[in-house]
Amino acid sequence: RVAYVNGIYQPHGQAVVHIEDRGFQFADGVYEVWSVFDGKLADYQGHLSRLARSLTELRIDIPMSAEALGIVLRETIRRNRVRNGIVYIQITRGTAPRDHAFPKDVAPSVIITAKSIDLKKGEALAAKGAAGVTHPDMRWGRCDIKTVGLLPNALAKQAARDRGAYEAILFDEMGMVTEGSSTNAWIIDENGKLRTRDTQANILRGITRAAIMKLVEAEGIELEERAFSVEEAKRAREVFVTAASSFVMPIVSLDGTRIGDGKPGPVATRLREIYLEQARREAI
Ligand code: PMP
Repeated sequence: RVAYVNGIYQPHGQAVVHIEDRGFQFADGVYEVWSVFDGKLADYQGHLSRLARSLTELRIDIPMSAEALGIVLRETIRRNRVRNGIVYIQITRGTAPRDHAFPKDVAPSVIITAKSIDLKKGEALAAKGAAGVTHPDMRWGRCDIKTVGLLPNALAKQAARDRGAYEAILFDEMGMVTEGSSTNAWIIDENGKLRTRDTQANILRGITRAAIMKLVEAEGIELEERAFSVEEAKRAREVFVTAASSFVMPIVSLDGTRIGDGKPGPVATRLREIYLEQARREAI
């Protein structure tokens, strides 16, 4: 495997950044993940735009043009011979002597990795449905920025793994679901209404979420962007989560409570199918 590190392609096993990189010391950086189909990037523009926004919000200089970025992303995919998988980019404020305040005249660090993923595994899980557990949302106030400060997310995901579950569904101090530890969360409520939390709340504006919203509209399914509680999720007909790496994943149990009939529901199944079809077709 090969990684792109600040303009150089290095063997993955030897690819390093400096110990005083601000990503390492302060989680002062952002990232983005695209899924790759047939060597091409899915939802390309959406993830690119969010990356630019994340950088702007943190006042990190945009290190290269969109054209140059497109070239290195694709070159990293090519050099790793990825047909299906993901490509990851991380941009930090750069390397400077440790001091909380921003350093002057520092170049951002850019790393890119790509890896192959066996799509059959995700398909098998989606066909069966995945388990979820609930977990308090312990993150900061700017979850709309896709920063590498993922410790609360990692702790929540591990709590899920410790209980044999796939995803941790996070909830706020009111008991309302915010999102998953690395996904956006949706339900078909007990009245049959599709719901997902609005992005005025402190959540990530998922690119897959946005793509699904457009598909939902085209399908003529009514959507309410309104928060739902953990209790509502447990009583829901369907629960599912969305992300670039997992597409649409049905959640068939929550804290051990069976959702619906305990099988992936028709809406989640349909949305997964049409999302994948579109993402493949529009990948560039
Ligand atoms: N929420 C969080 C906290 C995430 O980390 C992710 C995945 N990056 C998502 C939602 C889903 O976002 P996307 O559809 O853009 O991958």
